[in-house]
Amino acid sequence: MAGRAPASSSSSSAAPEFGIEGEEEFLYGAGSGWVEPRASCDHLASLSPDPLHIPIPDTPCSRCDHPDENWLCLCCKEVLCSRFVNKHMLHHYQQTNHCLALSFSDLSVWCFACDAYLDAEVISQLRPVHETAYILKFGEPPPFRAMEMRSTEESP
Ligand SMILES: [Zn+2]
Ligand SMILES: [Zn+2]
Ligand SMILES: [Zn+2]
Repeated sequence: MAGRAPASSSSSSAAPEFGIEGEEEFLYGAGSGWVEPRASCDHLASLSPDPLHIPIPDTPCSRCDHPDENWLCLCCKEVLCSRFVNKHMLHHYQQTNHCLALSFSDLSVWCFACDAYLDAEVISQLRPVHETAYILKFGEPPPFRAMEMRSTEESP
């Protein structure tokens, strides 16, 4: 089927589409107990010694092939889906005790043993893998602590 739309400029009177519901739910900010990431963790000894060779962020879950927003085990570099999908990262932790995982959706690092997020920019052992993942995801190194820069626009 080669149904190509003609590229000629026909004066079609396309009615605007209404009814697009753009409700966005934000993870943070709705008073849902946002906690600061921890600046320390006692479980970093299980980190992979080679943080510079990791799968790309689009890697599917190795067990169920879930395509995105997976977690990278920072101990053995297996890519597994989140607790909101099939809980394969959580199962992996329960089976192997690999407690450190990096989210490919927002590059945050979670420690299952601490039951907390870790600050990958403060904890030096996490920094290399965080940077590597950032470069793989965005194609450029992360802006160190420069995220709060806001251009103060002059009001007229
Ligand atoms: Zn999975
Ligand atoms: Zn693992
Ligand atoms: Zn920990």
